[in-house]
Amino acid sequence: MGVTRKDALRILGGTGVAAAAAALAPGSAAAASGVIRRDVCVIGGGASGAYAAVRLRDLGHSVAVVERAGRLGGHTETYHDPLSGGSTDIGVLIYHDIPLVREFFGRFDVPLVRYTGQGGTANHYVDFRTGLVVPGYTPPAPAALPAYIALLQRYPYLDAGFELPDPVPADLLLPFGEFAVKHGLESILQLLNGYAQGLGDILRIPAVYVLKNVSLSVINSVLTGSLLITERRDNSELYEKITAHLGADVLLGARVTQVHRGTHGIQVRVATPHGQRVIQCRKLLVTAPPLLSTFDGFDLDATERGIFGRFRHHHYWTAVARLSGMPPGVSLVNVGADTPYNLAPLPGWYGLTVTGVPNLWGVKYGSAAPVSDRAVRDAIVADIRRLRTAGSYPVELAGLEIFKAHNPFELVVGAGDVAGGFYRRLYGLQGRNGTFYTGAAFHTHDSSLLWRFTEALLPRIASH
Ligand SMILES: Cc1cc2nc3c(=O)[nH]c(=O)nc-3n(C[C@H](O)[C@H](O)[C@H](O)COP(=O)(O)OP(=O)(O)OC[C@H]3O[C@@H](n4cnc5c(N)ncnc54)[C@H](O)[C@@H]3O)c2cc1C
Repeated sequence: MGVTRKDALRILGGTGVAAAAAALAPGSAAAASGVIRRDVCVIGGGASGAYAAVRLRDLGHSVAVVERAGRLGGHTETYHDPLSGGSTDIGVLIYHDIPLVREFFGRFDVPLVRYTGQGGTANHYVDFRTGLVVPGYTPPAPAALPAYIALLQRYPYLDAGFELPDPVPADLLLPFGEFAVKHGLESILQLLNGYAQGLGDILRIPAVYVLKNVSLSVINSVLTGSLLITERRDNSELYEKITAHLGADVLLGARVTQVHRGTHGIQVRVATPHGQRVIQCRKLLVTAPPLLSTFDGFDLDATERGIFGRFRHHHYWTAVARLSGMPPGVSLVNVGADTPYNLAPLPGWYGLTVTGVPNLWGVKYGSAAPVSDRAVRDAIVADIRRLRTAGSYPVELAGLEIFKAHNPFELVVGAGDVAGGFYRRLYGLQGRNGTFYTGAAFHTHDSSLLWRFTEALLPRIASH
């Protein structure tokens, strides 16, 4: 973080907070006319958007958050079990032990503790296509981990964002499978695949995406045992408290219908459950995944359209299954009996994981190609039943308590685009047409690192 809060407050000159509070007061002219005047309109209230909104307000900027869902949190979601009273996070689970993370949770009184696993006692290795335990399979000893760390240390800039050198190192452009063979990383492919869930076929995607996902920060946190989890096993508590903190500045269940960015400010038209709203603002901060479909109704120029149009994405689903007959404490890891490096074939499971809540197991399922939510849900149910018919486990599925599509997940471009300066052009959009960007597509799927990235962006939003 290059700028302290004090510096940023000075830069911003304490703009707008009082005006913001007044703007939506019941009976105010603004509320009556449906016009909301703010310094910054934040599109998307997941990890990056919620953090940005809180910090922008700290810094004296008035904000409005437009969130499509009925809640803040995005990929952070918690299932509360009415039977046991326990809870389990079906999205974001762990955080890095860095001051920014401790401070952010601390201010909302959400205590953190060291992550020591989910209380599982054993992993069994099953090919979910057959429902059979893969005979003799044990994951290889991670002999290549030091080599992987040494490789990450060659590219320290990957931990901060997508500021890639020009030319981009050729190794980063290799399909990760080739990169792994070149550098003798075969023994940790299973391990990396287990962490890089939702990234599609890790053997085929450009190496840069795996190295950013299973980053130096991640490896350091794992090796030092410093990962954090919320003490109450309820990451959503943070976002519920942020929702209360932001109050009328959050528009939930809201859909942007039109954005016009002119020389005299930005106008965002939004359809909300309470009717149409017009947000009149000076800056826009987009945190929703920057696919062209996100920008429906925006006045994108040809440059913006050309850049966002290059993104494609992967697919990731989670669920909570209520089971009986599963050995307590046992998680099932999906391994291919006959696939390269025994990696889980996709579309398919990553695993069925102990949650720490009695009779509840977490489901993780991914795909490189589009699959309908219905087909994934049906496949999950059929695959769990097959564990029984194959004779592997006497498991009965009482039902899926919750099923969540975390899509679009992991936006990527091809190696040719990366080599051709895609990320330089993407980052060049910061500030163009009064619009700034943060979120996973601008860095990586890691809330702690995204908050750090967003924090570093705030002075630019303020001074622009
Ligand atoms: C199952 C799962 C497990 C994960 N585990 C971890 C973990 O343990 N630790 C970790 O650090 N990270 C984890 N991640 C990665 C996670 O994606 C990031 O940490 C982080 O939450 C991404 O934040 P974001 O702001 O980019 O996206 P999101 O949190 O998804 O926020 C984007 C928001 O934009 C909204 N939106 C989308 N389109 C629009 C629109 N057109 N208009 C308005 N709003 C819109 C969405 O509803 C969403 O709320 C996990 C992800 C998943 C899916």
